[in-house]
Amino acid sequence: MAESSKFKRIVLKLSGEALAGDDGFGINPVVIKDIASQVSEAQKLGVEMAIIVGGGNIWRGKIGSDLGMDRGTADYMGMLATVMNSLALQDSLEQLGHETRVLTSIEMKQVAEPYIRRRAIRHLEKGRVVIFAAGIGNPYFSTDTTAALRAAEIEADVILMGKNNVDGVYSADPKTDSSAVKYDELTYIEMLQENLQVMDATASSFCMDNDIPLMVFSITEEGNIKRAVSGETIGTTITK
Ligand code: UDP
Repeated sequence: MAESSKFKRIVLKLSGEALAGDDGFGINPVVIKDIASQVSEAQKLGVEMAIIVGGGNIWRGKIGSDLGMDRGTADYMGMLATVMNSLALQDSLEQLGHETRVLTSIEMKQVAEPYIRRRAIRHLEKGRVVIFAAGIGNPYFSTDTTAALRAAEIEADVILMGKNNVDGVYSADPKTDSSAVKYDELTYIEMLQENLQVMDATASSFCMDNDIPLMVFSITEEGNIKRAVSGETIGTTITK
């Protein structure tokens, strides 16, 4: 039987670091091409895909504010960083022949469309990949919260969270603690109570309140986005 998607519509959350690869900073053209081709093969399963890319490979608001910058200004810089990442990913996806639209929460009409919920859904229904850029458009939030909010708004079935070099959620950092145990399944309450650093507490409680499942897996393992979309159990699944 031909492979097909388990889901009708998904949100894929990628941290900015995923685009940097081993460089740890900036956008690595080889890495972004690889991610685009993973997205491409997953989308061919027939799923509607919305993507949210972070900005941590370029700038994080917290770093600026820790250095004495105004937090709002530092956070707007972070949101602008996500726009650069989104445009780079759009370019790679278009080179693979996928119609892709970037929708920004901060208006910049010369660069991308403004975020309008109904328009985003229309693009998805037409088979276009949608990239949500500039977070939710407000300081003090993260792109994890953006993923949660947009997933609720577009009625996505699941958030797929691709992590760099870690294949799921562990009881402790597996790189520094050899006793760390990987979880196959978790609830949001357990994640919050144990303070597991998967997504920030705002995003976790939003997903819990709105009953949005989350799957955390490694993006560095080739083909994992497709596996997740086709319903293979990989990484860690978090539910209400
Ligand atoms: N940001 C924000 N509001 C949002 C989303 C992001 O202020 O709704 C800023 C914040 O400064 C954050 C930066 O953008 O540090 C980059 O996003 P994030 O840290 O979520 O990126 P990731 O860790 O996923 O690479």
